[in-house]
Amino acid sequence: MFFSQKISAHYASKLGTDNCPLRRQVEFSAKENINCKGFKKDPLDETEVEIACGILQKYKSRLLVLASDECAIHCRFCFRRNIRQKKYDLPSKLTEILKKDKSIKEVILSGGDPLMLKNTELQTLFSVIPKHLKIRIHSRMPIAMPARFTPALWSLLELPNLVFVVHVNHPNELDKKSEKIFARLAKNGVIVLNQSVLLRGINDDAKILAELSEKLFSQRVLPYYLHSLDKAQGTAHFEVPLHKAKIIFKNLKELLPGYLVPRFVREVKGKKVNVG
Ligand code: SF4
Repeated sequence: MFFSQKISAHYASKLGTDNCPLRRQVEFSAKENINCKGFKKDPLDETEVEIACGILQKYKSRLLVLASDECAIHCRFCFRRNIRQKKYDLPSKLTEILKKDKSIKEVILSGGDPLMLKNTELQTLFSVIPKHLKIRIHSRMPIAMPARFTPALWSLLELPNLVFVVHVNHPNELDKKSEKIFARLAKNGVIVLNQSVLLRGINDDAKILAELSEKLFSQRVLPYYLHSLDKAQGTAHFEVPLHKAKIIFKNLKELLPGYLVPRFVREVKGKKVNVG
């Protein structure tokens, strides 16, 4: 499946010249056409844990909903780049599962980017999730398309148990607009966390990662995960060798207080395994 180049106007406005770490994240490279050993279409074997089309259960108490197959930008390293598929009837399937399985404590909306859904679609999804469950949103929208945070979206996000996990890889992705969004989320009592991916030529440097953690903190976001690259076909040129990754993480821990050090993990069949 061809994963087209897609860059939002906001993200494009932040791009520098050739070696810009933001440009490298979104600009197509011919290296994506090279098939490398160990890199697969579905590197996390997510289809094995799909209990209904678009709904995955990796953990007993949580459901992962692939709410949208669209994003504001196409990150070239995305681990779901080869397995995008439009999902239908998610609210009704979700209702059915939640009725049967009372052990679910959290519904994670991922994608694609769940905030690519229309407000009406989001509202329908939220309405089928019982109020006592946590709703977690995984999104890159605060740095990819901040204009998405309209008054109408803010009203929808007034949810009692909301956790927002943004995905920022480099400090230059953060700006005044993201700061405003995170400040409002924090003011609304939303827990805001960040996950990053360790990427060759983009953030494979302890000083850059430390600057990212500090800048996230200044915008009221706590570092949560630093993922090693999930080996999706077409992404091998982003891989940081394990021995180098471990040194970077060791140096990172020396630069930051413990609460600003993300957990460095790789995902193996639904489990997060510590790398460093
Ligand atoms: S799902 Fe996330 S990482 Fe993948 S292309 Fe979309 S925004 Fe980027």
